[in-house]
Amino acid sequence: MQVVHTIKEVRETVKEWRKEGLSVALVPTMGYLHEGHLSLMKAAKAGNDKVVVSVFVNPTQFGPNEDFESYPRDLDRDASLCENVGVDLVFNPEPSEMYHDDFSSFVDMNTLTGNLCGKTRPIHFRGVCTVVSKLFHIVKPDRAYFGQKDAQQLLVIKHMVEDLNEDIEIVGCPIVREEDGLAKSSRNTYLSPEERQAALVLSKAVFAGEKLVKEGEKDANKVLSEMRAIIESEPLAKIDYVQMVSQKNIEDVEVIDGPVLCAMAVYIGKTRLIDNFMI
Ligand code: AMP
Repeated sequence: MQVVHTIKEVRETVKEWRKEGLSVALVPTMGYLHEGHLSLMKAAKAGNDKVVVSVFVNPTQFGPNEDFESYPRDLDRDASLCENVGVDLVFNPEPSEMYHDDFSSFVDMNTLTGNLCGKTRPIHFRGVCTVVSKLFHIVKPDRAYFGQKDAQQLLVIKHMVEDLNEDIEIVGCPIVREEDGLAKSSRNTYLSPEERQAALVLSKAVFAGEKLVKEGEKDANKVLSEMRAIIESEPLAKIDYVQMVSQKNIEDVEVIDGPVLCAMAVYIGKTRLIDNFMI
């Protein structure tokens, strides 16, 4: 496995693979890898000849008061985890490699990004769409793998690829959880032991909401009230949002009569965590 830092090196390696007629997958990440990321890499390895993993904490998707500086980073550990699951190339650029001084072109979206996380993080999806587009242009993969953990992101990227006629298959992969239910996340490392315990209200609420919908509840507000009550029972938890939206346009629904995404963002102390179910 190779670890490279420049766009030129990625292009040269992928070009050689293409000459041999090999298929190529991309798994974009911000690093500090865990089992959730590794599940995407394993799926990528199973469906493609070669797997590229990008490890890049993308500055343009963080707001001014967010955790860009403090986001955990450990390239050596990430590289050995990637190697263990058979990744072929790790691309770890510096921000200056991705954004030159007079960088001024962004990929933005008029729909899908104004609700849920886009409400609290207004520039987030513009940064995500821009960096993912750039990675697509650099690697030119056949397939790219994204987790359902970031469900809005997955729907946004699928929409972007369709809008821009990118010839790339977007593969969504299920949420990987800790044994007690907490969705795995690099940000879980911010939690104190007490907060780690409190964070279980997210998955508890997700499981309770999912059960209600599976049992036939069609009233979105009933499901959401039950979920909010579970989260509000925890003094360390503060709800950012808990919403039921259509998977098609990410607009709120009152009646559950088609594919929905039920998503939440909750502060546990200062750490903002997300979780969801799709049905
Ligand atoms: P991140 O490094 O947080 O930007 O995540 C990189 C990719 O891994 C995204 O597509 C995430 O949705 C995915 N991912 C992160 N956590 C999980 C998880 N617990 N289960 C499945 N996929 C995940």
